[in-house]
Amino acid sequence: MASSGNKRKRYAAVRKRREEALRAAFVKVLMRSPVKDVRFSEGNRRISLSFAGERAAYAIRVQREVYVGHWGRKSGIHIDRAMLSKGRSKSFKALAVHEAVEKFLVERYGLREDEEAHVVATAKERQYLERAGGDWNAHQASVYRLWAKLDGH
Ligand SMILES: [Zn+2]
Repeated sequence: MASSGNKRKRYAAVRKRREEALRAAFVKVLMRSPVKDVRFSEGNRRISLSFAGERAAYAIRVQREVYVGHWGRKSGIHIDRAMLSKGRSKSFKALAVHEAVEKFLVERYGLREDEEAHVVATAKERQYLERAGGDWNAHQASVYRLWAKLDGH
């Protein structure tokens, strides 16, 4: 006699597999969807963009940060103030796109921050930067240098 406990376990495993397949398919779709109509306002203290058929808008806090960029559930997007220096405008905006997309995907759809939302956000950051005429490798190197400095190593 198969116990209902075993049936429940099997069903939970099937559901889990389906959820993982759905997540993977959704991430693939998101990777192909462009971020549109990116706008900065209030002197680069606000970003709005269209993604996945929706419009998202967040405040940008510019101050000394431990990480170059991150986001909070209540506080919007945070970018280190060093990113506002001359010649870094495209980098600053690309990072803001990254944090906005990541925040949107985690809060709106419950994507996992590191292995799902971050991966999509990095692709959209690159797309934005390159469309603005920026160099991806130079951008990554400068963000990494600043990150290493802020982290104190
Ligand atoms: Zn990220």
